[in-house]
Amino acid sequence: MLYFDQTASTLPYEEVLDLYVRLSREHFANPSAMHRLGFAAEQVLKEARRSLAEDLSCSPDELIFTSGATESINTALRGYIHAHPHAGREIVTWAVEHKATLASCEALEKEGYLVHRLAVNEENAFDLHALEAVLSERTSLLSFSYVNNEVGLMLPLEQVLRLRDRLAPQAVLHIDAVQAWEKFPLRLQGSGIDMASFSGHKIHGPKGVGLLYLRKNLRIEPLIYGGGHQQGRRSGTENPILAACLAEAARIGHRQAGAHLRQVTELNRYLRQRLLEKIGGLVIHSPETASPYILNVGIPGIRVETLVHALAGREIYVATQSACSSKEVGSHVLEVMNLPEASKAAALRLSLDPEHRQEDLDDLVEALVEEVEKLRA
Ligand code: PLP
Repeated sequence: MLYFDQTASTLPYEEVLDLYVRLSREHFANPSAMHRLGFAAEQVLKEARRSLAEDLSCSPDELIFTSGATESINTALRGYIHAHPHAGREIVTWAVEHKATLASCEALEKEGYLVHRLAVNEENAFDLHALEAVLSERTSLLSFSYVNNEVGLMLPLEQVLRLRDRLAPQAVLHIDAVQAWEKFPLRLQGSGIDMASFSGHKIHGPKGVGLLYLRKNLRIEPLIYGGGHQQGRRSGTENPILAACLAEAARIGHRQAGAHLRQVTELNRYLRQRLLEKIGGLVIHSPETASPYILNVGIPGIRVETLVHALAGREIYVATQSACSSKEVGSHVLEVMNLPEASKAAALRLSLDPEHRQEDLDDLVEALVEEVEKLRA
């Protein structure tokens, strides 16, 4: 089996699966319970939070456990805006964001907020001039992904922070760090980032758990009300087991992040070159500056859904676009990019992982060549 869809979800590490089974037996009690078992479960939760805070270089009470990044993003965006009714009425985001951000912004738009969705510049990169043009004293919130999940476009974080500080210092910045976590260095304390969202299943951790970083003293209106867990910011019984598994996945990923980035950069370079050599007409959609973990390509004249199914028949798994948007016709990300229309309509997203070997890429390219030939015949 060859799996090239890590951007959609990853296989949990063996250590994470083992930990899940062990802790599920040992720490099933409610962490809020007053007895010894509850206290032990609470300690597991505390340790997970401490370890994750160390990983992200922030303080433990700046982290909230959520069900995943979709919840984190909704809480950050809608929660911040609703807690600050007298702040500016303008929000700035990127047109290539994940639907969790775009849909949260649409909901706020219906409440009367003005949402600026920045496109990309001529080089298909983040448009700093467009950002400069929209920032003002009316801006209350900026939300951008560090790494885009369809093409791998990267945010020029330092420049964005500088523009925010100069032109809209009152505005808070939320970063969707889902596709960047444990792939690129991320230190939150003193970074200027006010909120950030993370997900477990993209880092070889479990599904159903994510994180929201909220800078100290930043107020949000919770999305979920109840027993006042997690300082009233996210009610609902915490899951120490999922929290510990998330911390374990992060620890493993963190240790190897630098080496993994170098390996995947090499794999990406090799795959680009092989694809261009072997498949006539293929267009690379991901700019050279994109995250090497994601390679989006177009093969004009091919029905990509048929191609994806043919590859799945050979136990090779790739994606046409974001799994969360796979029901939409065409991709909202490619739509705003400067690329040939025929190629946009036939896009494949190939995700790379440090576990891949060069032979796996050769097998992928060979299968693509054969299937594309059949489809073109
Ligand atoms: N943001 C990005 C960039 C993503 O890739 C994803 C997942 O596809 C999400 C947010 C949503 O994460 P989750 O599946 O944890 O809700």
